[in-house]
Amino acid sequence: MNYYDYIIVGGGASGLMMAYRMSKDTFFDDKSILILDKKKKKINDRTWCYWQDKNDEWQDIVTKSWGTIIFKSDIHSAEESIEPYQYKMIRSDDFYSKIWKQLETKSNINFQKASVLSFQQLEEGALVKTTDKVYKANIILNSILFFDTYKNQFKYPVLQQHFVGFFIKTKHDSFNDSAATFMDFTVDQKENTRFMYILPYSKNEALFEYTLFSKTLLAYDEYKLEIEKYLVNKNITDYEIVEKEKGSIPMTSYKFWKHNSKNIINIGTAGGWSKASTGFTFKKTSIKTVKLIKHIKQNEPLTEFHKIDKFWFYDLLLLDILSKKNYLGGSIFAKMFQKNRPNKILKFLDEETSLVEDLQITLKMPPKNFIKALFQRIF
Ligand SMILES: Cc1cc2nc3c(=O)[nH]c(=O)nc-3n(C[C@H](O)[C@H](O)[C@H](O)COP(=O)(O)OP(=O)(O)OC[C@H]3O[C@@H](n4cnc5c(N)ncnc54)[C@H](O)[C@@H]3O)c2cc1C
Repeated sequence: MNYYDYIIVGGGASGLMMAYRMSKDTFFDDKSILILDKKKKKINDRTWCYWQDKNDEWQDIVTKSWGTIIFKSDIHSAEESIEPYQYKMIRSDDFYSKIWKQLETKSNINFQKASVLSFQQLEEGALVKTTDKVYKANIILNSILFFDTYKNQFKYPVLQQHFVGFFIKTKHDSFNDSAATFMDFTVDQKENTRFMYILPYSKNEALFEYTLFSKTLLAYDEYKLEIEKYLVNKNITDYEIVEKEKGSIPMTSYKFWKHNSKNIINIGTAGGWSKASTGFTFKKTSIKTVKLIKHIKQNEPLTEFHKIDKFWFYDLLLLDILSKKNYLGGSIFAKMFQKNRPNKILKFLDEETSLVEDLQITLKMPPKNFIKALFQRIF
């Protein structure tokens, strides 16, 4: 039996951020820590965006930031400053390299390439089974979405934020790289919530991501055709695709944290750290990992780490609406952006607004569907 104080299952965003924080805290210096993943990630497999004030802890690996965002729809369009925030983009290869450089300075933190099959709570400690070995730990921090129960329940709707993105490079300057397009709903909605997300990271390079908040994924070609159509409409025809990305992030208020136990805690998307109404996870992971380190150091029960708050309920109402009337997404977001400053919306999405601010935002949204969803949840 291979025993460790902590086993981090999955060395992606949340697993590596936890390991990074442990490596920076002397409390963990005499603890043995193992990271298990199918591969030691090095290449750029995703870009993460988040908003934060000018200087934050990841600033040294930020590729590009924007002080202005664009929202577009048939109801409302605007290009506005998000002061005091900056919308920031990090390439995952820079993130992985920063973290591994730090982890390699710590002899108590090890990596093992392994395909994890399952984990299990024991009377004392917990087990991880891989295809080759069985490991035991005092605490398992798991970031792999093993359980399908969230898909097979009916209490909480499950949508996906699904997308395909093309990083394109044009021959000539084609983009205004001082503003990121947060959502462009002028694309054909086809009875869904569909928008284009655009990150121009130089005057001739930009990410175009065709994104949906809906229940069912599309065939790859459909995302591709929509990006191509959008580019033609913008008169962008002379370009090469330098990179591609795709993803599907669960959007649900399902209580992932109920799978936490005495010695096992789920983290990242598997822990319910993806914002249910948007899929944004990076910043939440950055905040939650700081809190989890404190929680572990104080020897607090892992089952009590997660606390449900009002934002969980707001997200639930929005998802209730979008799961029944998916076509309403564009108009709901348009009203939200029409009636509120974007920095206030970002603060709300960060779950940092007061009740008064929440009311200022929510009462300006189309009330009928929210009141109906509220009554259906209560009664
Ligand atoms: C393309 C893409 C773009 C995104 N962009 C943003 C963004 O801009 N902003 C934002 O906030 N969020 C974004 N997200 C959402 C979220 O931030 C990421 O998905 C993030 O990586 C989630 O972190 P995680 O630790 O939960 O999962 P991951 O980072 O996916 O880590 C899970 C790890 O588990 C490993 N693994 C899986 N199965 C096994 C197994 N059986 N055995 C061993 N190892 C295994 C994987 O190799 C992986 O390294 C994006 C997601 C994707 C896919």
